[in-house]
This record gives sequence, C-alpha cells and structure tokens, in this order.
Amino acid sequence: MSDYKPLRPAKGPVGSLFAPVAGFGVTLGAMFRPTVTEQYPFEKVPPPQRYHGRHQLNRYADGLEKCIGCELCAWACPADAIYVEGADNADVRAETGGGQVSPGERYGRVYQVNYLRCIFCGLCIEACPTRALTMTNDYEIAGPTRAGMIFEKQDLLAPPAPGALAGPHPMAEGTTDTDYYQGAVTGPTAGQVAWVREHRPDDPTIEAATDVVEGRAPAPQPRKHELRPPATKATATKEAARGGHVDRPAEPAPLRPAEGGQR
Ligand code: SF4
Ligand code: SF4
Repeated sequence: MSDYKPLRPAKGPVGSLFAPVAGFGVTLGAMFRPTVTEQYPFEKVPPPQRYHGRHQLNRYADGLEKCIGCELCAWACPADAIYVEGADNADVRAETGGGQVSPGERYGRVYQVNYLRCIFCGLCIEACPTRALTMTNDYEIAGPTRAGMIFEKQDLLAPPAPGALAGPHPMAEGTTDTDYYQGAVTGPTAGQVAWVREHRPDDPTIEAATDVVEGRAPAPQPRKHELRPPATKATATKEAARGGHVDRPAEPAPLRPAEGGQR
C-alpha cells in the first residue's frame, strides 16, 4: 500500500457533491461579465506602454538623424531582420556644400527592417549606442506583399519635430558628436537656420526653426509615435482593400537586390 499523502486537504461533503460541476462556475461567472469584443479597426485600444511595435529611427532636437550606420542593431538581431548600410557624412558635405545627415563621421544610408522575420524581441534597440532606434506602439504592420513587409528608412524615420530643421544641414556651431550624444544640443541654431535658408530657401521647416531660434516658440520636443485615430467604416474598408496599410504606398518600391538588401 502506498504511503502517498496529498498536500491539498480532501474536500468536505459539500465540495465533493459539487466537484463534478465546479467547472461550470467559471462559465457562469463569465456570462455576467461585460463583453470584451474589441470593435477594431473602428475602436483602437492602445496597447500597454512597453508594447514592442514598429521600429522608429529618431532625430536630435535640431533635426539631424541619430543613426550613425554602425550596424550594431543588425548584428544583435537574432532573426537577421535588419539590413543597414552606412555612408560617410564627408560625401554629403561635399555634395551639399556643408550639410550632413547625422553628427559625426557616418550616417545610415540604407536601413531596412524585414517584418516577415522580426519577432519584436527588442534586442536591436538595446544594442543601439545612440538611441537612434526605438520601438513604437504601432501594431498595424500587416501587408499584402512580401516586399511590402520590408520597411525602408523613409518608412521608419521620424519626421523632424515641430521647430527642428529638416536635414541635411551642418552640426550646431562649436559642437562635436559627443555634445549631441550628451544632450547638449536642444534645438536648431541661428547658423543652421541661415545655412538651410541659403541652400534650400523653400524648406518648409525654416519658419518654425526661426521662431525657436528667436525665442518665439519653445525648443523642439522629441516626436513620440502616436496610434493613428480610429478609422471610419469607409476608411477601414478602403484600408482593408489596400491590404491594411494606411501610411505606406499601396505598391511599395522594389528593393535593391544589387546592393545586397533583404529579400
Ligand atoms: S525586434 Fe528583435 S527580431 Fe525584430 S529587428 Fe529587433 S532584434 Fe531583430
Ligand atoms: S539604429 Fe543604432 S545600432 Fe542601428 S545602425 Fe543606427 S546607430 Fe547603429
């Protein structure tokens, strides 16, 4: 005879009587709870704050890009979902007469995330030395084609914050890339605005940047990603017909296989 003794105390006579139907208690309890069906896409429930959604490439307060094309994110990725090609800011300076894309020597010329491979683990954003790469709460990244699931730099790059200058433009006067990393650059400078006014007089970001420089507007705040507003029935039907994208072209541009990009 076994000397096994269960740790849980044995049920009393009432517990034993209802034991065969105890599971129905859960069902009955659920019947009286409010319904939790989400009317997506007409009502969008924000995910938790730390939800890992679509990636975003960020900028400094003056508008220069934070990505330096170092490829650390690509090397950290366990799913081989990121492809980066860096290039020299010296070439951009020669081309534009002094502008650059990011502070320092290099910038990310090609940046791709393949969302058919990405498992949203977040290792890439941990590896990024400049906090250029973060993840947003955007979960609407389904698409109708394989090529369309490979997001390019223009799909991931945050637009300049209100009051920041679109690039390329020179670094803030008298600063180094270390000053940028340490947060010493808090907005565009008069020299940067003058440079953009001279080289791209039609740039739409000049006026707001001038207001910041002359103290009529506050310094640019980093642009945070926000969930898109709820869709109406008409726009949701249109989006569904296009495959679900709302901010990407219906027919994404073909990749550049000659450059060794993602396939
Ligand atoms: S979240 Fe993970 S799988 Fe996706 S790109 Fe970053 S490291 Fe790769
Ligand atoms: S996103 Fe960050 S880790 Fe990736 S290439 Fe740019 S700077 Fe390097």
